[in-house]
Amino acid sequence: MGEFALDLGDDQKAVRDWVHGFAADVIRPAAAEWDEREETPWPVIQEAAKIGLYSLDFYAQQYFDPTGLGIPVVMEELFWGDAGIGLSIVGTALAAVGVLANGTEEQIGTWIPQMYGDENDVKVAAFCSSEPDAGSDVSAMRTRAVYDEAADEWVLNGTKTWVTNGGIAGVHVVVAVVDPGLGAKGHASFVVPPGTPGLSQGQKFKKHGIRASHTAEVVLDGVRVPGHCLLGGKEKLDERLARARERAKRGKAGVGAPPAEGRGSVRNAAMATFEASRPAVGAQAVGIARAAYEVALDYARTRVQFGRPIIDNQGIAFQLADMRTRIDAARLLVWRASWMAAAGKPFEAAEGSMSKLFAGETAKAVTAQAIQILGGNGFTREYPVERMHRDAAIYSIFEGTSEIQRLVVARTISGVHIR
Ligand SMILES: Cc1cc2nc3c(=O)[nH]c(=O)nc-3n(C[C@H](O)[C@H](O)[C@H](O)COP(=O)(O)OP(=O)(O)OC[C@H]3O[C@@H](n4cnc5c(N)ncnc54)[C@H](O)[C@@H]3O)c2cc1C
Repeated sequence: MGEFALDLGDDQKAVRDWVHGFAADVIRPAAAEWDEREETPWPVIQEAAKIGLYSLDFYAQQYFDPTGLGIPVVMEELFWGDAGIGLSIVGTALAAVGVLANGTEEQIGTWIPQMYGDENDVKVAAFCSSEPDAGSDVSAMRTRAVYDEAADEWVLNGTKTWVTNGGIAGVHVVVAVVDPGLGAKGHASFVVPPGTPGLSQGQKFKKHGIRASHTAEVVLDGVRVPGHCLLGGKEKLDERLARARERAKRGKAGVGAPPAEGRGSVRNAAMATFEASRPAVGAQAVGIARAAYEVALDYARTRVQFGRPIIDNQGIAFQLADMRTRIDAARLLVWRASWMAAAGKPFEAAEGSMSKLFAGETAKAVTAQAIQILGGNGFTREYPVERMHRDAAIYSIFEGTSEIQRLVVARTISGVHIR
């Protein structure tokens, strides 16, 4: 594993420029239309599939880039194009990562290709964890999975909410409670294959931003999936549950299990997975922020008031300097965390959460400043910064809110179980 380097290699630059070309030529021109329609931009996903930009191979290649920078570079360019369309293209990857993180090799090989479909018949996938009463507090999850030993099937019941691609996906990955006595340790993930009876879409949400991305409830009513749809397999689950029960018993007896995030690093496996995936979401936020900053910089150079371009005023120019500084700082945090994940470095200070926190807040602040610099035009849908600002707002909410990121960083640097 190499040292952290800011220079992209020739292959990485070629990928970045190729994705940028697609973002500029196909995504950007379609952004306003799909934002207004509030529908999944299937034709754009299809175009991406045709050139190989929506495919398992492409994301796998980026995911396994040894420098760790493959995914953040691609995310930044796609979301520079448009966040709603960007999420429609990469939403499937969230479900794919769910299988990659927990599945056996056979499950990975079976389900992930099905999530993407092929260029003539593209599919999307969904990852269903959140519930109406279990957002930040995942341990409050109620969706139940009960094993029917005679049939070797799992039966799922519950309601998931805010699911990206929920109900329109082929493959749904569902997190459910298998042992209610164990809190978040009693959860397991299941693949629900396309067309499984009992899974249906509930309400589709009308949203503030990223409106081209479909977000809906998913209702699971007596959904039966074969035993092999339990990610990781039954044997591994039983072992894990036995260990968790043992730890819980010792905890009660006063021996005390170690906290999930001990001083000095993020130790818990699920937390470590989040630490590794959060920089990718941070990179999306960097893309939105950069897009708004570029529009604002251009505008400030050409908009004339009081006989001179508005950028001649320090009040405007300094804002642009701050915007650029924050964006570059956010990218550096994202790249550092991405490199650490690829290099297998321990997250001593929850650097993954840190990068998502800073990049998400940067996107919100920078897009707001961009509206201010564009004045009345910034407030209208004639200019894209209004949409970018609406899109940026989700980046302090999903994949862990900003408060939850602060909680993770604070617990990791202090070793104290801060609430
Ligand atoms: C567009 C969109 C797409 C999504 N896609 C998916 C998806 O594909 N799959 C999926 O499973 N989920 C998805 N989500 C759900 C998302 O992950 C949750 O909305 C998020 O985790 C926050 O949960 P919540 O909305 O219930 O907020 P809550 O947890 O109710 O939080 C409300 C407020 O309280 C704060 N808060 C909560 N606990 C604490 C605390 N301990 N300390 C300080 N502050 C706290 C939060 O930061 C927030 O400000 C999506 C959400 C949206 C809006």
